[in-house]
Amino acid sequence: MLRKSGARVALLDCLDKTWSDIKWPVPKPYGHGHYPKVHLPKPSLLAHVPRNYSRYGLPLQAVRHALRRLSPPPDIVLITSIMTYWYPGVITAIRLVRKTWPHVPIVLGGIYATLCFSHATTLDADLVIKGPLENKNNWNAFWQLLKVAPPSLPENAGFSLALDLYPEPDFGIILGSRGCPFHCAYCASNKLFTKFCQKLPEDVFTETYTQYQKGARDFAFYDDALLIKPEKFLWPFLELLSKKNLRIRLHTPNAMHIRYLSLDVCLKLKKAGLTTIRLGLESADFQNRWDAKLTAEEWQRGIKNILQAGFKRENIAAYILFGLPEQKEEEIKLAIKKVKEWGIRPELAFYSPIPGSKLFSLAQKHCPYPLDEPLFQNNSIWPCVPGGFSWEKQKKWKEVIKG
Ligand code: SF4
Repeated sequence: MLRKSGARVALLDCLDKTWSDIKWPVPKPYGHGHYPKVHLPKPSLLAHVPRNYSRYGLPLQAVRHALRRLSPPPDIVLITSIMTYWYPGVITAIRLVRKTWPHVPIVLGGIYATLCFSHATTLDADLVIKGPLENKNNWNAFWQLLKVAPPSLPENAGFSLALDLYPEPDFGIILGSRGCPFHCAYCASNKLFTKFCQKLPEDVFTETYTQYQKGARDFAFYDDALLIKPEKFLWPFLELLSKKNLRIRLHTPNAMHIRYLSLDVCLKLKKAGLTTIRLGLESADFQNRWDAKLTAEEWQRGIKNILQAGFKRENIAAYILFGLPEQKEEEIKLAIKKVKEWGIRPELAFYSPIPGSKLFSLAQKHCPYPLDEPLFQNNSIWPCVPGGFSWEKQKKWKEVIKG
């Protein structure tokens, strides 16, 4: 959006390899994998948690040097944020930028800034943006900070990914939509994007092709609701891939909605090269769940169709929510059992209480910590599990899964 409005941009993604002289863990066969990390002292509020606390990605020193080398210095710096409980990383980034260019305004946006807006305003940014930059108020405030009259929003505002700024991606990203029409009580999707919107398949194809030309052969869909209204995006997009005869593997790390997995859909996905399948089961207690996205019949039918379409069992996993407030161990065990019955892998998705989600107030009731402090929203501490995280409990659950 900024480039289309006439700005020049430089991107520094601290989770991108960027420099060849910095050692990075070897990626897995589909391009994804681990990040380098350094252990840090735990924030005092988490001192009692028996886990390490680490920063992931590029070394701080390398980032500092890169900022200093940027020429000319920027007129403005935008910092994004992801998980709410990673805000100490945002503080570090803001400090680095302030130290490098004391008079350059800093804009903070992203998921943490949106979900914990008041908290984010206590950090040292000049402007905090809640929600997408292309929201009119945000767009205007951004340009006002630069003392420039706001240009009109470019076409497709918010929908074009600047993936060309990544020179050598190990894997590609496909995003065909934003938001989700479901309103699950534990999820932040609706807080981040109030409406479900789909992109034009042609635009997504161009983005995909750009990454393909740079060598990416594995592509992950980042959509929250990939299978909703597939006639508008997914089918025409896959048709374009097939016409161009691109030999790529597709992956769905964000779970797909099982209820939409008819045999026809599964066969189309198989033909298109879908390889890794993640499914959003969440719970096998179908009468008593925190969402309305799946029934017992839909689960059975969906999984049967996937297998019938010829997907390999080892590439399929179903997510099961773990650590919800008031959740009984039996519920989790039942879900694990139901998944394993089909010979596929159960994967626990650790619950993180999300401010503004419907479940947040119940989480506050059951969590021993004040959840308005984002550090306690960290799913690694199992905030709503009685007694919190322990290595013994984790071992026990690993055994249940292996079982
Ligand atoms: S279906 Fe998935 S993305 Fe949509 S609201 Fe529920 S958990 Fe969130």
